[in-house]
Amino acid sequence: MITLKSKREIELLAIAGNIVYQTHKYLQPYIKEGIKTIELDKLAEDFIRSKDATPSFKGYSGFPYTLCISVNSEVVHGFPSDYVLKNGDIVSIDIGACYKGYHGDSAWTYKVGEVDKEVEFLLEHTEKSLFIGLEQIKPGNRVGDIGYAIEQYAKEHKLGVVKELCGHGVGTSVHEDPEVPNYGIPNTGPRLKEGMVIAVEPMLTLGSPRIFIHDNDWTIDTADGRPSAHFEHTVVVTADGYKILTGTGE
Ligand code: MG
Ligand code: MG
Repeated sequence: MITLKSKREIELLAIAGNIVYQTHKYLQPYIKEGIKTIELDKLAEDFIRSKDATPSFKGYSGFPYTLCISVNSEVVHGFPSDYVLKNGDIVSIDIGACYKGYHGDSAWTYKVGEVDKEVEFLLEHTEKSLFIGLEQIKPGNRVGDIGYAIEQYAKEHKLGVVKELCGHGVGTSVHEDPEVPNYGIPNTGPRLKEGMVIAVEPMLTLGSPRIFIHDNDWTIDTADGRPSAHFEHTVVVTADGYKILTGTGE
């Protein structure tokens, strides 16, 4: 069921979203060579709790950590660990925070030091594909318009689209209806309405978009071991477009 959020609910979702944004900003100086990804997880959990919020993912369907930290070929749902970040890595950090029962969800892929040119290309165009998808959001358009725009943009740049995972509605649950795929057919799927809150999250790959799941039953990785990137914002559909909730709040 797709729910439309009230003004009060959107205010709470915006606070949750801003806490997610602040957590990203807080972590950025720490994302460098030499840090263990488990250390980033601890920093994020303490920061989120200091904002009177709770980590959305910890305990979600048994997920054991605050952050999903997916390095290089890992697409999503990587486990924070004793892995030490090194120069040339890319690291997707997916953050969810819950404030007074309402969630925010945003992922960003960061560079560690200097990365290869082709990896730079992947990051630049995966981030752009997120905004290309978001541009489709306004009342009357449909969910398929978002996915179509992302998929076409990825194709133009010869990047793979991981199709097994989707964006989603966000509210009192971090994942709710509708599903927001990163592919689609224009003018199909649920119609966007003012007050809908959705997370759009393209996951693109440099090589084949085929994936496999690790033995931990969570972490998704590219089958060919090539790098992948992931960018996500939670947004609210407004009267004439959309507003990003997991940003500065401006
Ligand atoms: Mg996320
Ligand atoms: Mg999400």
